[in-house]
Amino acid sequence: MQLSTLGWDSHFEESFHTYRSQNLMPARIAREHKSQYVVYSEAGEMSAKLRGKLRFEADTNEGLPAVGDWVAAKPLDGGERAVIHGVLPRKSVFLRKVAWVRTESQVLAANVDVVFLVMGLATDFNLRRLERYLTLAWESGAAPVVLLNKADLCEDVESRIAGVETVAFGVPTHAISARAGTGLDAVNGHMGPGRTAALLGSSGVGKSTLINRLVGIDLQATGEVREADGRGRHVTTSRELVVLPAGGLVIDTPGMRELQMWADEESLKGSFDDVETLAGSCRFRDCKHDGEPGCAVSQAVEKGDLEAKRVTSYKKLRRELTVLAARKDQRAKLDLKSKQKQLARRIRQMQRFRQKR
Ligand code: GDP
Ligand code: ZN
Repeated sequence: MQLSTLGWDSHFEESFHTYRSQNLMPARIAREHKSQYVVYSEAGEMSAKLRGKLRFEADTNEGLPAVGDWVAAKPLDGGERAVIHGVLPRKSVFLRKVAWVRTESQVLAANVDVVFLVMGLATDFNLRRLERYLTLAWESGAAPVVLLNKADLCEDVESRIAGVETVAFGVPTHAISARAGTGLDAVNGHMGPGRTAALLGSSGVGKSTLINRLVGIDLQATGEVREADGRGRHVTTSRELVVLPAGGLVIDTPGMRELQMWADEESLKGSFDDVETLAGSCRFRDCKHDGEPGCAVSQAVEKGDLEAKRVTSYKKLRRELTVLAARKDQRAKLDLKSKQKQLARRIRQMQRFRQKR
């Protein structure tokens, strides 16, 4: 593998200077799992670990390497394994802000050049959500490109594009069909050797289908595997940084997939104002709108004031957001720092308790 194929450029070369003299080689993180890394380098693929000093000195999670990062690595055992000595300064970074530990954020992907904001033209089309995605993109430093997918299902593509321009003026926007394979030249126009792309978009908009197109996996075969794993995930590889046959790379991490939920959460209110307002007059505050007595939402549907389909999509999004909240919760519990704080608080409580006695 050539470094330039992997996205190496003069920007990184410059910051690598000090490492070069220490006999370290540049490598790019392709996967991270529980502090075990897979990296790509000129010597091929290696499994890698962090040098103890690096782990110790990184004062926040942001200092630790993530998928897409360029690192300085020392090969061991004839080049099968390596030790990571340092992380090179990033060109762009997608962060998950960890709300319960204010100072800490987690890196979801690094050194992304172009981020495709994928929206469906049929359902899912939501300009408020697109605004959220744009915010994420501008914050990251990657250049956004709007992809309106499922053009095959939309009668009025032009007016949709005009709508996008009202919130994303000057951002390249393309109507495509990942399934039919139309508009892919426009997508490829933003790629090219050494350029790294990532995708943001709600579940079901066709991100996997598009990635599989770019990777060149036979869609038929993909369908079979997808049924087998039952989770609707694509099967590029277990690598989260994939080198494309036509040149360029694509980053697809579970974290990036989760990031879209934040955008959805923020846009829930805006896109379902009517349902939310009605829900406010339901008799029970925790009404599920499933036939409870005094449910204003069900009444509106019965009267024909509200489309039943709309309530279904509202409920679906609510369910997804509940899953997200549960995941956040779980992560919070796992968070070491919050545990330490809890422990400190408990010790203080115990001391107070003892003083009182
Ligand atoms: P993801 O959750 O964003 O990864 O979405 P998927 O790639 O899993 O696609 C969700 C569904 O939409 C699948 O059934 C795809 O076959 C379908 N799909 C994807 N792209 C298109 C498209 O361009 N047109 C149509 N009609 N369906 C598509
Ligand atoms: Zn209700």
